[in-house]
Formats: sequence, C-alpha cells, structure tokens
Amino acid sequence: MRERALLAALDALAKAGITSYLEANTSEETVRNYVQLARNQQLHAHVVMALRSDGIDSEAEFTRLKVLRTLAASEPLLRADYIKLFADGLMEFPTQSAAMLEPYLEADGKPGRNFGPTYLLPDVLSWFIRHADGEGFNVHIHAIGDRAARIALDAYADSRAHGGQRSYSIAHLELVDPQDLPRFKALNVYPSLQLQWARPDNYSVEAVLPYIGAARQQRPYPERSLKDAGATIVGGSDWNVSTFSPFEAMAIAISRRNPAEPQRGELGANETLPLRDLFAACTIDAARMLGLDANLGSLQAGKAADLIVLDRRLDDASASSEVLATQVRSPS
Ligand SMILES: [Zn+2]
Repeated sequence: MRERALLAALDALAKAGITSYLEANTSEETVRNYVQLARNQQLHAHVVMALRSDGIDSEAEFTRLKVLRTLAASEPLLRADYIKLFADGLMEFPTQSAAMLEPYLEADGKPGRNFGPTYLLPDVLSWFIRHADGEGFNVHIHAIGDRAARIALDAYADSRAHGGQRSYSIAHLELVDPQDLPRFKALNVYPSLQLQWARPDNYSVEAVLPYIGAARQQRPYPERSLKDAGATIVGGSDWNVSTFSPFEAMAIAISRRNPAEPQRGELGANETLPLRDLFAACTIDAARMLGLDANLGSLQAGKAADLIVLDRRLDDASASSEVLATQVRSPS
C-alpha cells in the first residue's frame, strides 16, 4: 500500500521534472519502502534521505540512524546520510510556534510577549551536531523564525569550529536577521528555500504580516538578501503542504506574486531574483548541497545524462506566467 503510494509520487515527481531530490524527514518505514522499490528496479530517481530524529544525543539514536544509513547504501540510487532536525514550528497565527528574536505583535499591533518556543536548546543541538559529524552525517534543520535560524547557525558554527566538514543546510528561513545573512557563506551553510510560499495569500497576508510589524514585513523569504550576502541558495518544496513543482516555485520567486490571486500584488517585492539564479538553485546548487555535483546538476561531458526536456525556451526575460505554464515533455 505505502509502496504503491510512493510509486505514484515518484511518477508525479518525474512528470514535474524532478530527477534527484532530498527526501526530508524520512521515517524508518519510508527508508524500507525506497529500498524495496530500488530492489524491484522501480526507482529511477536519485534520492538522498534526511532521517527524522528528535535530536536528542544518545548512542541508541545514532545506532538506529546508522542501521538505516547502511540499509539505504545497499542501493546505488539511495543515500540516507542526512539527519533532519526541527529548531521551531510555524509562524502563522494562532499557532505562532516559530522562534523569533523579537516577539510577535498582538492583533492590535502592540508588541506581545510570545517569542515562540525553542524546540532544541542550543547546547543540545550543538552536541548532537558534533556527534553527527563524528559519525559522518550531514544535517538539515527546519528553521522558520529568525531566532531558530540563529540557533541553527550557532550550532553549525560550533561544529565548523571543531573541524566539522559535512554538508549543512537550513530549510524554510521565513525570516533571517540581517546580521545573520553573511554567516551562510562564512559557515558554508545552504539555505534550502521553499519559495512556493513567498506569495501573498491568506496565510502570509492575514496570518503572518499583521503579527510581525512593518520592519520584518519588508523581508520575508529573503531569497535575494541571502544571495547578495554570498549564500548558495537551494530550491526545494514543502510537499505535501505545497506542490512540488519547481516551475511554480520559480514563477513565484521571480515575481513574488500569487498566480491565483494577482490582485493581491507582491510579497516582499525587493526579494525577487532572476530566473537564472533559481535555475541554478534547483539544479547545480542543489546537487552541490547533496554532494552529487560531480555527476549531476549540469549538462557537462562526463556527467550523467540525467536531463529533462521542457516545452518552451525560458530565460530571464520570461514572464512568470510562462515559467508557471512550463511543462516537462514526456518521452515518446
Ligand atoms: Zn520543515
């Protein structure tokens, strides 16, 4: 049953043009499903799995993670050498569980008292990441609020200071404090951005913006600010909360408009990037983050012919509606 669902998802991913991806927050059951599909010769994508963990450092937890990593390594298309951790929750009212440097505002616009919870204490996170480094695991941290981003960067900085060489990434990054922007480059941490969300809609306009105030409203989903600060941004999705279409994400990221509700205007209009930067984020730079760039991510002699064909030519002058309407040609 689960295998059939996974096969259907793999088919839909292929049709959307996705040939390799990070499967974030993978359960043990899902690792086993992927291995079974690969053994049945039904897997045609490169899949790197970020194993779900509660982030509590113990020998038992690392033993469990290593068993799953070894299992995945039995199949050439699979790897499970990432760990996914959660630094915080969500920014939307009324949940407001994203960790913020400044408190959420109340409905009347006055500063409130909620800064959002910290899911992992800084020391606990640092110890876990150092242990993960010693065991050869890469780390991917969910951070929505600017305090969560800072905590994640602090833990990565601690690991780098102790010689940590692994691939480190932070997913989502709905808000980043301007002071922290240069740290992505300095620490070689990849921002993994889900830019399908970077549009005005009920969630952003009604459940987030009123509660963060004017200054923070200027810089949600800071794709351009990160890029300008030298970070290597990587494109992702939050399927099944969002679609996984990279063309939808890119159409929104170059316009910061909502294709379904154009009358709403833009969300963070200063943060757009040209299409070429987003193509890089979804291809070679994503491959770099996953350590697959020697073989994948660009058209180059000697690399795998792991390519897709689009139904149109796209460049920086393409309208977001053109990007959104792009289809991947199926082999005929
Ligand atoms: Zn997440």
